[in-house]
Amino acid sequence: MPDRRTFDTIEAALEAFNLPSDNLAAVRDHLSEREYEQRCYIVSSGQYIGLKEAGSLKTVYINRGFIDYRDGENDWTRILLPSNKIRDGGYTQGKGYQREAQACPNCGSRMPLSGVCDLC
Ligand SMILES: [Zn+2]
Repeated sequence: MPDRRTFDTIEAALEAFNLPSDNLAAVRDHLSEREYEQRCYIVSSGQYIGLKEAGSLKTVYINRGFIDYRDGENDWTRILLPSNKIRDGGYTQGKGYQREAQACPNCGSRMPLSGVCDLC
């Protein structure tokens, strides 16, 4: 990982990372719950900040829309931040099922979504 940028303080990394302000507040909130080493980095892709919990090997990855806590090799916890693309684009709940009610070709009244006219 040659090109990642290192920072002497978490605050400096957060400033460079340019999070949406509501997410920044949420990140600060989460970070205040545990102690982290101040020295941290932003990966070369700019995708996340890598933090280490003080005195342990636990790692935290702060992405723009979520935080991943890594508590072990395969033990990840993801916390979604207030603004995130996962929620905005990941779940297209209901989309594709919202068909327009169509007019009956016979009487012109709106048919229910079943496509069977109530009046005819
Ligand atoms: Zn009809």
